[in-house]
Amino acid sequence: MEKTQVAAKYLKTGEMFKESLRDGRNVFYQGELIPDVTAHPATGGGIDIMAKIYDAQHNPETQDTLTYLNSEGERVSTAWMIPRTKEDLKTRRALTDYIARETFGVFGRPFDLMPLVPVGMAAYLSKFREKRPEYAQNVLHYIDYAQKNNILGPEVLVDPQNDRSKAAAAGARLFDVELGSKLKGGESTPALLRVVKETEEGIYISGAKAVGSISSQGNEMVLSNLMRPGLLPEESLWLTVPINSPGIHIVCRETVSVDSANAYDHPIKSRGEEMDSFLIFDNVFVEKWRIFNYGVPELNELYGSVVLGAHWHILSRLAAKAELYAGAAQLIVEALGTGQIPGVRSIVSDVIQYAQTLRAYVLASEELAQLTDDGVMWPDVNMLTAGRLHGIIHYPKIIHNLQELCGQGLVMRFSEKDYEHPYIGGKLEELLFGRGLTSKQKNLLMNFIWDITTDSHAGRIGLFENVNALPAPLLRERLYHEYDRTPFMNHIRKSIGLPLA
Ligand SMILES: Cc1cc2nc3c(=O)[nH]c(=O)nc-3n(C[C@H](O)[C@H](O)[C@H](O)COP(=O)(O)OP(=O)(O)OC[C@H]3O[C@@H](n4cnc5c(N)ncnc54)[C@H](O)[C@@H]3O)c2cc1C
Repeated sequence: MEKTQVAAKYLKTGEMFKESLRDGRNVFYQGELIPDVTAHPATGGGIDIMAKIYDAQHNPETQDTLTYLNSEGERVSTAWMIPRTKEDLKTRRALTDYIARETFGVFGRPFDLMPLVPVGMAAYLSKFREKRPEYAQNVLHYIDYAQKNNILGPEVLVDPQNDRSKAAAAGARLFDVELGSKLKGGESTPALLRVVKETEEGIYISGAKAVGSISSQGNEMVLSNLMRPGLLPEESLWLTVPINSPGIHIVCRETVSVDSANAYDHPIKSRGEEMDSFLIFDNVFVEKWRIFNYGVPELNELYGSVVLGAHWHILSRLAAKAELYAGAAQLIVEALGTGQIPGVRSIVSDVIQYAQTLRAYVLASEELAQLTDDGVMWPDVNMLTAGRLHGIIHYPKIIHNLQELCGQGLVMRFSEKDYEHPYIGGKLEELLFGRGLTSKQKNLLMNFIWDITTDSHAGRIGLFENVNALPAPLLRERLYHEYDRTPFMNHIRKSIGLPLA
């Protein structure tokens, strides 16, 4: 059967996605309730970006990247595919690459990231079954439901920032055995998300979560609390909840993207952004079928394994973004005619090396991927962690390289209105032309580089890349604890005559 003829009953158009967000949710911007997130300057642009991706699910040219035919012959979103083979991982990565390129990699939480958290639970389903069989059965059911409803949403795992010297507010202590043991558990904090009531139908949760990127712009969110010493049973959760549930208040940070900005003056910033929010939960009801864990701290300890797929997505997105940076570097050099200068070429080579290194880590993590006991193909953890660490550490240097290649061009940028002025515009064209580019074209390139490296929007992305899904100190801890050096230690011991452990 011709692929394009298959009825798309499980897909949404961009407009359907936008309509699904007009659902009475409580989203606040600067103290005011947003009546319609699709139309508000702080949230609407980012929603338009994702709506375009939904539309691409229906485009014959892109539908095989964004969707596939399930076992029933129905076209469904690739975002919710459970990878069973290395080929499936590649199929998923093609989607990540596509979205990263369409969004210039500035959307850290596009619609194919959060699904990897429930998929991560499916990867360790037997552990969930062992401890909480009545909730474990919800995992596969939810993935099926979310795929058929083409759901987009955030995963909000990090807890609100307050005094981290208190156990209850300690933040992630994933590998921090030494520090963690000094903190006593059992203290309570109003910030930590917890169950306050249980009924036959489900549970009620109160507390808060941070930093929920796209919380105001998605349909449903996946929630958990990071592992910490003394996590209480009522704080031990993996679940999902619709964003418009009564009792959820979403408080947006200040926007760094202005949709009224001119697309020429700000080619990226003017498109919109993924909004980050603080989430307050006040007696929010969670239906039973949406719960994957409640009450078992050991299941929250599975964080590192469950989110591995999401971390692979983050590295893949960064690799695709780095490749665009290599392209951007070359465009700058060509626009300025600086490509014949060896020092300039070496800066471009640094950007290329970054892109190639990240790509190599992505490919290696897939090549070394293994099936979990529950039959999910999961990327190699050490390649991923090392790759993410490399990506984070060198990111500021790469941004600096792009800025350096531009020289004065990043400051001597002018607005479209300047170019429309009869005298100024003419003079700018006469005096500031590029190599093979008019002044206005060269200026557009510099506006683009400004938006991806230097603008407030780029500043937020820089912060995001640095800490999202574990900052460098925790990634280092992870590598320290999980990379097996024993064979190499033993080789040295044997070779020089030290006792074998
Ligand atoms: C723009 C942006 C978007 C984000 N989006 C999301 C999202 O969508 N979902 C989500 O769940 N989270 C999100 N986050 C949160 C992000 O994952 C956390 O900021 C990050 O994991 C660090 O946790 P923290 O901010 O609570 O740091 P804190 O615990 O407050 O610690 C501050 C710093 O101290 C150091 N530190 C703390 N604990 C340790 C330790 N045990 N070992 C070593 N060093 C340590 C780290 O350098 C850390 O950055 C986002 C963050 C940003 C900036």
